[in-house]
Amino acid sequence: MAVLKLLRAPSKYVQGKGALLKFYEETKNLGDSYLFICSNSGYKMCQEKIEKSFEGSNGKLHFEIFGGISSNGEISRMRKIIQDEKINVVVGVGGGSAIDTAKACAYYENLPVAIIPTVCATDAPCTGLSVIYNDDGTFDTYIFYPKNPDAVLVDSEIIAKAPAKFLVAGMGDALGTYFEARACVRTDSPSLENGGISLSAMALCELCYKTLLKCGYQAKKACENNLVTPALESIIEANTYLSGVGADNGGLAVAHSVYNGFTALEECEATMHGSIVAYGTITQLLIENAPKEEIKEVMDFCHSVGLPITLKEMGVTDVKRVMIAAEKACAPGESIHNMAGDVTPDQLYDALLAADLLGQDYL
Ligand SMILES: [Zn+2]
Repeated sequence: MAVLKLLRAPSKYVQGKGALLKFYEETKNLGDSYLFICSNSGYKMCQEKIEKSFEGSNGKLHFEIFGGISSNGEISRMRKIIQDEKINVVVGVGGGSAIDTAKACAYYENLPVAIIPTVCATDAPCTGLSVIYNDDGTFDTYIFYPKNPDAVLVDSEIIAKAPAKFLVAGMGDALGTYFEARACVRTDSPSLENGGISLSAMALCELCYKTLLKCGYQAKKACENNLVTPALESIIEANTYLSGVGADNGGLAVAHSVYNGFTALEECEATMHGSIVAYGTITQLLIENAPKEEIKEVMDFCHSVGLPITLKEMGVTDVKRVMIAAEKACAPGESIHNMAGDVTPDQLYDALLAADLLGQDYL
């Protein structure tokens, strides 16, 4: 039987300036006793607004500051609180790790989960999976869930106040979405949710890319000055919803394997996920021998918002070490194998260096 087309998304997505003040109203159907798993900065930025949204209600709130990484130890600690406090709604407040912990706890305790992202740097808020680490910080596993979060609520004012580098990295992550999905469609490869790629998913991915081109630069400027503008609103939606739901249902290819590969290079440790995905997107276009107008359009975009177009900007100091990354990127099970005709470490290495030469020319 052919692979069945599949489309999954959060049950509810709410976004706008001051959205947090409506948090209780938008989620009260989920339960009445909430645990907020907060990153340090997430707590500082959101706690007051969240409490305000509960005024006059009989909903109970329990805030817990979270220990930094989504590890099994941290998940067990939160599950105990859920049981002791008779919690019936779990909420993740913060960046990727607080969100991943909340999703995991809700899944194990069979409870609904709501997400309040405080930066839009990754696809974590809208997807139906978590990245789990060991207590020592090394990668452990992915957990895939039967559903996406029950509610995602983004307060644009909070995103505008976060450092613009997070928004830029989120645009890099979003940049891969359309091109990776397009590559998967060409080879009939399954999505991240292991389904066939629907027309609807592809439409979200295309809109994601168009929105980046249209609003990326303006949104970055707005964020640098803590301003909420229509362009910033568009990019928040592109980074959070279009990119997250798009990648979940559209699949990954070279760009995300390049990211996984570069995690092997400690000199690139400070480079954010989305920055590496952006460079990986240019690399993927070279492997596809895409039209030069398309490659230029992507490079123009990267340069305009400050995403890397050379290996040096990614933190690479010794070009020969890129082979280590190329080998890791081509490990069995990597999404790079969704490409037509497959890709070997040699081919990837050459494309990564060719992208660097184009980038140097550009600069
Ligand atoms: Zn990503």
